[in-house]
Amino acid sequence: MEYYSPTDLKEAYALLGRYGASAIPVAGSTFFMGHREELFDEVEAVVDIKRLGLSYLRLEGGRLKIGATTTLAGIQKSELTARGVFRIFADTVSELNIKEVRNMATIGGEVCIAGEVDMPTTLLAYDADIVIGSSKGTRVLSMQKFHRGYLNNALETGEIVIEVQVPQPRNGTGGGFGKFERTAADLPIVNACVRMALGKNGVADEVAIAVGAATAAGVPVRVAAAEKAVTGKKVDDALIAEAAEAAGAIDCVDDFRASARLRSRWVRCAVEDAMKKAVAHARTGD
Ligand SMILES: Cc1cc2nc3c(=O)[nH]c(=O)nc-3n(C[C@H](O)[C@H](O)[C@H](O)COP(=O)(O)OP(=O)(O)OC[C@H]3O[C@@H](n4cnc5c(N)ncnc54)[C@H](O)[C@@H]3O)c2cc1C
Repeated sequence: MEYYSPTDLKEAYALLGRYGASAIPVAGSTFFMGHREELFDEVEAVVDIKRLGLSYLRLEGGRLKIGATTTLAGIQKSELTARGVFRIFADTVSELNIKEVRNMATIGGEVCIAGEVDMPTTLLAYDADIVIGSSKGTRVLSMQKFHRGYLNNALETGEIVIEVQVPQPRNGTGGGFGKFERTAADLPIVNACVRMALGKNGVADEVAIAVGAATAAGVPVRVAAAEKAVTGKKVDDALIAEAAEAAGAIDCVDDFRASARLRSRWVRCAVEDAMKKAVAHARTGD
């Protein structure tokens, strides 16, 4: 297996083009190294994309733009996520307990893995777009369209994720993230993110509820029934419980980590937790 570490995008695209389907890009390598023999046995060339200048967070044109090789720790420590409508991204990272992984894993790597990861669930709730680059140019896909199934995404040979963009939510929006894992060092068994904008009278004007890690689809999903249960209503504990109950009805995966029945219960708890946090942040504006 050859290892390359290009310093500009053109060079990276040329390397990926030269090896075609037998090359892969890597960023933090936290997933790649753990699954090297099992999933990447036939890879001939690894193109490390960490030196391409894709590590940044900036607010531009009403969007939070996060470069693909920005580490989770970089997101957590940014001033842009310290408070306000984007703090949910720091809050999401804070739920990952392993410092070494936070320091190495990147947002691009998280996005490319549809499965037991946290950030795609939050990005789905926040209507994020994924910017994809290749020698042919760039294209943009919504987070919703990017994932195709468990460990499967819409990237074609030679393409890499270069940026993640999140539209700035309106003022009065609060976000909450809830998660269950078996141990502090394990992958998530269930996670949930809620984005909620409250009107002056405490009515939920806009609600997005996403659930990840638990789904039978293998990708994070938006739970329309739970969103509908809350939208346009004054939020109180009974309404939150109703929405959480609706979220628990999603089709959950059954595997060695947890049964579908248990996951379904935890989806309810994670959504309730995330919703309570979202309401609290929306009320205080932080
Ligand atoms: C013990 C452990 C616990 C963990 N717990 C959690 C957790 O609780 N929550 C959580 O969210 N994450 C967790 N993670 C991290 C998560 O499982 C992945 O390892 C991480 O998201 C991968 O990011 P990376 O940058 O290291 O990707 P890499 O390992 O570099 O790459 C992963 C895959 O994505 C592709 N890829 C990477 N970047 C790009 C790009 N820009 N464009 C195209 N393809 C790309 C690679 O080809 C590869 O297929 C944990 C990891 C470990 C090892």
